Amino acid sequence: MQKIILTKTFEQDWIRMFTHLANLFFEQSKVITDTEEEGILVDLSINQNDSTIAGYAHLTYNGKEYSATFSEQVTTDSSETETRQLKRIYSHVFLEVLEQLTGMKQSWGILTGIRPMKLFHKYRQQGHSVEEAKRLLMEKHRIFEEKSELLATIEEVQLKAIPDLHQLQNDVSIYIGIPFCPTKCAYCTFPAYAIHRKNGRVESFLDGLHEEIREIGKWLTERNIKITTIYFGGGTPTSIEADEMDALYKTMYDSFPHMKEVREVTVEAGRPDTITPAKIDVLKKWGIDRISVNPQSYTDETLKAIGRHHSVQETIDKFWLSRNMGMKNINMDLIIGLPNEGLDEFRHSLDETEKMQPESLTVHTLSFKRASEMTRNKEKYKVADRETVEQMMQMGEQWTKENGYVPYYLYRQKNILGNLENVGYAKPGEESLYNIIIMEEVQTIIGIGCGASSKFMDPTTGKITQFQNPKDPAAYILTFEEYIDKKIEHLERIFPDAVVVE
Ligand code: SF4
Repeated sequence: MQKIILTKTFEQDWIRMFTHLANLFFEQSKVITDTEEEGILVDLSINQNDSTIAGYAHLTYNGKEYSATFSEQVTTDSSETETRQLKRIYSHVFLEVLEQLTGMKQSWGILTGIRPMKLFHKYRQQGHSVEEAKRLLMEKHRIFEEKSELLATIEEVQLKAIPDLHQLQNDVSIYIGIPFCPTKCAYCTFPAYAIHRKNGRVESFLDGLHEEIREIGKWLTERNIKITTIYFGGGTPTSIEADEMDALYKTMYDSFPHMKEVREVTVEAGRPDTITPAKIDVLKKWGIDRISVNPQSYTDETLKAIGRHHSVQETIDKFWLSRNMGMKNINMDLIIGLPNEGLDEFRHSLDETEKMQPESLTVHTLSFKRASEMTRNKEKYKVADRETVEQMMQMGEQWTKENGYVPYYLYRQKNILGNLENVGYAKPGEESLYNIIIMEEVQTIIGIGCGASSKFMDPTTGKITQFQNPKDPAAYILTFEEYIDKKIEHLERIFPDAVVVE
């Protein structure tokens, strides 16, 4: 644990901000204001007059000293309050002295949030040109030029895929969570329960899910609210039987309004061991041709180490089965930094992916999430160092370029190895619209099913209220009706003018 001692006292939310920044440099850090303690000493101050505001940082550690200054005009931007500007300026100088001390450079600058793209969209929505938005991100937030270019590319791809991206606030998207998987993977923090069919839990869950779809569908239909995209996630939505999938899609088509106008329906078939010809037939019957088949790695030992219980060959076979049976848009996920994996294993994963050419590929960087088995037993798993992870990221970037993919969404996670990002790549025109919508938070997403998280976005203010369905199927079965009512209350609040159409 690295202690960082500030010579001045700050409110708790400021301390949290400094801690997030310090965590970019140290595996674990603690920012405190007790100068009696031993640690890295940082003196922060601000000088302000009517027109200029300047921040200073002075760091002392092990007899060495570092300092940084940063100044800019007092904000005239109405979307940034004075406090926000102060926080940003303090962050600049705090980050810079830590960069000097550690020799590490932070390519995302002072941005520690998970959605840097949102900031880019915000600047563009304020009327800034692409070049100005890039400059603002570099100057105000210290991000590297290459990252600002990545954001600009993503914006262009997103607006091509969804030209009305910023006018979708009166429509909704739907997420349907099915919380079962054949087994639980070691790094998993999703609501995923090993499926065994003896106790009737799956059937009872599905009864509740049908009811939720019917009730939410009824509310939307009565008010003529359109659905932009629908996404089945989980868990693994293909871990239920083919006839259960069929019944579910029937309820969806019977209940949701304007199904013909829904732009995309995706079903995650993440675990290849759940894919069968009968299930693909069901998907085809309902016109669903966008699925995810997730290899994560093409090294059998890795799959075993992370508890996937399927082989590499099975991934390859199920990919071709899906492709040959008519699945036109297949997404695959790879994870960088899985246990015992280095450059060779990742190169091998890319070589294998090359043979299949899925329409989209998401490259995740392994994150040690607090609740996963891997985090609880961190010492058991040997993972690549920051430098290797960075090299793997670059390898992925290069590979996607050579194979005709473009980046179309991006997000970052806390505790992500090397403090890098997860990037979704797609062949032009094959982007997942749902992924863009959820990442950029441009409309309400109604979560249905276990662990499904709803995001109710007020169309006027853009303010988002999150609402979570129960994660555990047992709790869901008992309470789903209450949760339907609560979601409808939220919908009535954000769409007060939506009238019941006769
Ligand atoms: S397949 Fe996905 S949802 Fe299921 S246990 Fe593994 S990581 Fe979790």
